[in-house]
Amino acid sequence: MSLLVTDIGELVTNDPALGDGPLGLRRDAAVVVDGGRVAWVGDARSAPAADAVLDAAGRAALPGFVDSHAHLVFAGDRAAEFGARMAGEPYTGGGIRTTVAATRAATDDELRANVARLRGEALRQGTTTIEIKSGYGLSVADEARSLRIAREFSDETTFLGAHVVPPEYADRPDDYVGMVCGSMLAAASPHARWIDVFCERGAFDVDHARAILACGQAVGLGVRVHANQLGPGPGVQLGVELGAASVDHCTHLSGADVDALASTRFDCMCPDGGHTTTVATLLPGAEFSTRSPYPDARRLLDAGVTVALATDCNPGSSYTSSMPFCIALAVREMRMTPAEAVSAATAGGARALRRDDVGVLTVGARADLLLLDAPSYLHLAYRPGVPLVSTVLLNGESQ
Ligand SMILES: [Zn+2]
Repeated sequence: MSLLVTDIGELVTNDPALGDGPLGLRRDAAVVVDGGRVAWVGDARSAPAADAVLDAAGRAALPGFVDSHAHLVFAGDRAAEFGARMAGEPYTGGGIRTTVAATRAATDDELRANVARLRGEALRQGTTTIEIKSGYGLSVADEARSLRIAREFSDETTFLGAHVVPPEYADRPDDYVGMVCGSMLAAASPHARWIDVFCERGAFDVDHARAILACGQAVGLGVRVHANQLGPGPGVQLGVELGAASVDHCTHLSGADVDALASTRFDCMCPDGGHTTTVATLLPGAEFSTRSPYPDARRLLDAGVTVALATDCNPGSSYTSSMPFCIALAVREMRMTPAEAVSAATAGGARALRRDDVGVLTVGARADLLLLDAPSYLHLAYRPGVPLVSTVLLNGESQ
């Protein structure tokens, strides 16, 4: 069954060849989807016929959001910790261990139900592609089952056995790293596409992080890094050194960090004309929820670095599944333009996952399309907190 989505008041394609500016904006547009893919993009008045019609009635349409950083496999919540933090306690990352204990105690069905709940929440807010990390099991069996459950919901699964050193290894971190690279990686890698490390003071130092990421690469996993969140550090440059698809957080960057990211830029015959092979993924929900200074998005963008926005959805430092919320924060708090923020939440997220079939509405792309109850994408930042996503097509199917 083909579907014609017509009378789109403003269409974001993310392909400058299809319309105005970097977003490739078109007015009075239509899109035909067929077999789960975009089959045609053009003017509504010259659209071909299709088996069914969806009248957008002048509303804005854009690609589904690509949330390239989320921790959905866990049990319990940490509302009390959030309350204490808002009353003045600092965020240290130590609360991760609270969630590890709850996750280990949960059944598979409890974990699965929690992922399903959060995946559904994200989808209703327009997220059509979501990366899901492990990292709250931190034992061979619990990391493997976390990824097995994550795989039921997404192909973009990430092994984060190196989230923190679990309590039982607190005085022998070398042994833990050995296990992550050995039996844990062997059990986890069949269910994962990516490997990630929290490279931060109090988590994993640069030597441990490099060793773990190299082990993952050796078995074919792509590299991502939690880097430079709580303070300056070597994580971003380690990510560039290892050819990471993305370095995430990037809250505390030196000039050398920005230069290293910019050095991965190349021009290509692709919709955006060029990008950095290592993307800087910014997670403003974490700064919001830990009441911390936001990353300097302008400095990255002005240096030519490709930026993605993601939720970091997790029960400790950013318990939001809302990409529109992150867009609003990026515009208000990080001085991104609404166009830059929407691009980062769609095409940028796709770059961070090395995907060219999502984050764009071009012929051949996956038919992941949102209609907003608004005439323009600008409303995503202009009307913060308002549920504007009114229709979600995933693989061409209305959700
Ligand atoms: Zn994270």
